[in-house]
Amino acid sequence: MLSSKKKYIVNDNSGIKAQIQFADQKQEFNKRPTKIGRRSLSRSISQSSTDSYSSAASYTDSSDDETSPRDKQQKNSKGSGDFCVKNIKQAEFGRREIEIAEQEMPALMALRKRAQGEKPLAGAKIVGCTHITAQTAVLMETLGALGAQCRWAACNIYSTLNEVAAALAESGFPVFAWKGESEDDFWWCIDRCVNVEGWQPNMILDDGGDLTHWIYKKYPNMFKKIKGIVEESVTGVHRLYQLSKAGKLCVPAMNVNDSVTKQKFDNLYCCRESILDGLKRTTDMMFGGKQVVVCGYGEVGKGCCAALKAMGSIVYVTEIDPICALQACMDGFRLVKLNEVIRQVDIVITCTGNKNVVTREHLDRMKNSCIVCNMGHSNTEIDVTYQSISQCDFLVLKFYGIFLAQLYFCLGKWLKQSMLSSPLRAALIELQHCQASLRTPELTWERVRSQVDHVIWPDGKRIVLLAEGRLLNLSCSTVPTFVLSITATTQALALIELYNAPEGRYKQDVYLLPKKMDEYVASLHLPTFDAHLTELTDEQAKYLGLNKNGPFKPNYYRY
Ligand code: NAD
Repeated sequence: MLSSKKKYIVNDNSGIKAQIQFADQKQEFNKRPTKIGRRSLSRSISQSSTDSYSSAASYTDSSDDETSPRDKQQKNSKGSGDFCVKNIKQAEFGRREIEIAEQEMPALMALRKRAQGEKPLAGAKIVGCTHITAQTAVLMETLGALGAQCRWAACNIYSTLNEVAAALAESGFPVFAWKGESEDDFWWCIDRCVNVEGWQPNMILDDGGDLTHWIYKKYPNMFKKIKGIVEESVTGVHRLYQLSKAGKLCVPAMNVNDSVTKQKFDNLYCCRESILDGLKRTTDMMFGGKQVVVCGYGEVGKGCCAALKAMGSIVYVTEIDPICALQACMDGFRLVKLNEVIRQVDIVITCTGNKNVVTREHLDRMKNSCIVCNMGHSNTEIDVTYQSISQCDFLVLKFYGIFLAQLYFCLGKWLKQSMLSSPLRAALIELQHCQASLRTPELTWERVRSQVDHVIWPDGKRIVLLAEGRLLNLSCSTVPTFVLSITATTQALALIELYNAPEGRYKQDVYLLPKKMDEYVASLHLPTFDAHLTELTDEQAKYLGLNKNGPFKPNYYRY
């Protein structure tokens, strides 16, 4: 039983600054355009906000009502109209989704119970921007039970479950989100969460950094009252570190992405549980005896390999890092270069977080019906489209498309040799990738199912491309609620910690959650398994130099 706020606040004042080096420093947070307009926003909207994300468990929106939610006058049963969702009448369906999710989110439910009578988030005004799913709803309702007021928008224009958004609006949460928002809607929704008369946020919960960015750009004065930012995604955390490095971070921020309870669970177990689901739903394939190559043996790669091996697939791994490569070998996988197996494999899966791992040259050499998909963060791992153009700094190339790409390609040799500035040379290299991608005139694309394309070569060979190279599991399958529960609980505790931290504990920097809190998140999930944790004896604790109640590992321990 948590009897006082103190139990939520970890006394260990060792929120360490993570030592993360980001390879690509080009993407500067404060260089993003502010003007609302489709074109400019299509560049500024984050990758996470456009990566397709759909839960197959959703009832989905069967209504063919084309009216924009922004043009509708809706009220919930209590008469409040402070929300904007697709259709408030779907609330009942959404409530059932939330109830199902609650069963698999034991730690949040435990926090609610333990908080009866005490409200560690009393007075907190949290503005959130995350995927709006049943799991997020359980998180929001938990934050509400802990005393917080919340306003919420979606961090992804496709990921909102309309019925869940409706259920939240019906229970009085100001939610501004629907599936299939335009980019203009996306920013409008964020603005409606922030720009409210008589209400000002004092905490931010972000996934991707767009909400934080919006407040920085439009309402910088709000940071006077904001106590902290909790950020979940790689991209958002990257931006926070950039702000911090530039001395522009105005408040403490908690990096949930690199919490051990996120990385070692979400990345590994979520992918281990969802890779087969994503492949099966899209292709109906059998895994036994199939040859699969998995690129990258980090947490995500390890999860994918384990699942495929268990199904009887013959799994090859590619790696650039000798340590992960050795792990793959010792786990019984053949470590190869992609070129060595590309002609024979039935499935290619990328999990590197890198770009251009599977190139057009690889795709040319794959056998007929080879399935190609990506489990990494963004759709840059498989060289699919003209995306390089939209990402490069030469906006003009977007408008002239193929023509300019070809021209640059022809002039490539000369340009390379000339005394061009390095950004232009980088753009040229990107353009050569564009030229080499799958969106070229000689290849035919055939949409065979939702999220499944056949790309057909002139000789009739076809490649099965899933989710156009976007995250397979988030696009084509469900992800396990229990794993999301671990991440959501980490987010809740990060909010509680930042909100209650005494003045001076956290400075204007990016922190990891104290290890003791990670341990607390894990312990809240153990009862689900009827797991019995061994307690240290006094003698053992002394011998190991540990406090009997944790933390049990030093911050550098890798698990
Ligand atoms: P990680 O850093 O632990 O692993 C990536 C591995 O890829 C590393 O070992 C790295 O050495 C290797 N690698 C890099 N470039 C390579 C190349 N060209 N060829 C072969 N190997 C290469 O990261 P992770 O936690 O495994 O995450 C990987 C990606 O998946 C990230 O983009 C992450 O954001 C994303 N992710 C996806 C999900 C999901 O549900 N699909 C969940 C969590 C994370």
